[in-house]
Amino acid sequence: MKFLDFFKKKLKKYDDEVNFTCDICGREVFDGARVCHPCLKLLPWNDKNICPFCGRKVVEEGTCLECKQQPLKVKKARSALLYEGDAARLVLRFKTGEKFLFRTFAELSMPVIQREFPMCDAVTFIPMTRKAEKRRGYNQSRLFAEEIAARTGKELLSVAVKRRETGAQKFLGRTEREKNLEGAFHINDRKAVKDRRILIIDDTLTTGATVSELADALLRAKAKEVYAFTLTSAENKHPYGLPPLEKAPARPPVID
Ligand SMILES: [Zn+2]
Ligand SMILES: [Zn+2]
Repeated sequence: MKFLDFFKKKLKKYDDEVNFTCDICGREVFDGARVCHPCLKLLPWNDKNICPFCGRKVVEEGTCLECKQQPLKVKKARSALLYEGDAARLVLRFKTGEKFLFRTFAELSMPVIQREFPMCDAVTFIPMTRKAEKRRGYNQSRLFAEEIAARTGKELLSVAVKRRETGAQKFLGRTEREKNLEGAFHINDRKAVKDRRILIIDDTLTTGATVSELADALLRAKAKEVYAFTLTSAENKHPYGLPPLEKAPARPPVID
């Protein structure tokens, strides 16, 4: 039994490194790619109209309202995919135990990173609090950034710590999220940051508040420029502002 476990582990490790099945549909692949060609074609690529700053999909080319009202601290952000369908499922799996997906993430990201961020000489990741990292067992943003550093030859900077838990941000807008995150990140090696062009790597960009807050800390530590790349980003559904709120329906009369 022990031997079988040992063998299974070996096989799993071999599959992680060499890969013979598609990480999305499980079909056999023959070229060592992490994702098969049909799945690659079907992925929701973020390659149509995007906001030139936050990189999120917009209906018409141009700066989105959020970036007009509250620009991000990163010079620009880009993402390879939209946060939907198989791409959203990949992110979820990556965050809930399927650690090995960092290779898949890197493979899907490299073309955009090489095209958009040749000026960056270092990459970094979003730190987690020690407690949160212990709970998950790993920091997915770090795993992803490490792989990007290895593939691009850029230096990996592990210079930021997260000082406090910031809670769920799901229902907050960019401004509220930024308020919620204020002062959450601390740079503990300012020397390593000074005058560098740094690319923050993460899995998903929603409003961009998290990368913006980390960028703010890096800039205060005298980084030259800060950029962000995420595998996916949420489509900006209201790039020109939220539609006016509908009036709440009148309450039915109370009948005694
Ligand atoms: Zn597939
Ligand atoms: Zn924008």
